[in-house]
Amino acid sequence: MIGKLVVASGNAGKLREIGEILAPLAIEAMPQGAFGVSEAEEPHQTFVENALAKARHAARHTGLPALADDSGLCVAALGGEPGVHSARFAGEPKDDARNNALLVERLQGVADRSAHYACVMVLVRHADDPEPIIADGRWHGEIIDTPRGAGGFGYDPYFLVPSFGRTAAELGAAEKNAISHRGRALRRLLELLRENG
Ligand code: IMP
Repeated sequence: MIGKLVVASGNAGKLREIGEILAPLAIEAMPQGAFGVSEAEEPHQTFVENALAKARHAARHTGLPALADDSGLCVAALGGEPGVHSARFAGEPKDDARNNALLVERLQGVADRSAHYACVMVLVRHADDPEPIIADGRWHGEIIDTPRGAGGFGYDPYFLVPSFGRTAAELGAAEKNAISHRGRALRRLLELLRENG
């Protein structure tokens, strides 16, 4: 099992959730910021390519195994957007409040509110690893117009989880991690890691 790894993200919300899920395991996960690693370019059209680019970038700069998450919100009525562009939906600099305002604006008068979060997690043992471990996770919900809750991050106050009758931002941290796209992807990745010895 991998003892120490770098998490290829500067997103405080993601780092917190990944840290919570890894906490019970004997894995020392350090954010790439602790090593002075800058954010990698994310030029690709798929989550998996972007996650791989981020993992390789962090591994190259630290010499450590690297775990990366590329994720986003895919809205059916918007043809899957913002998708891989979720962090910068409303342009630069990336800003959750502006992204959320744009999301609500784009969905004005739209009846189909279905959406899902998608996450691809990649682990590389070293920068040129030819066999990265890759896992994905999805979380289905609906977009509402009025924000609810103070937990989570990003689009969570607008992401209603129908089975709970609450938004992702109204769930406790453990509740969110148990069912979220990120929780599912990371737990699957850990399974694959065990299967691969
Ligand atoms: P990335 O850092 O390029 O993977 O962008 C991820 C973006 O997707 C975040 O900045 C959020 O806008 C959105 N996102 C991904 N996961 C979540 C989540 O769990 N809650 C809310 N927003 C999320």
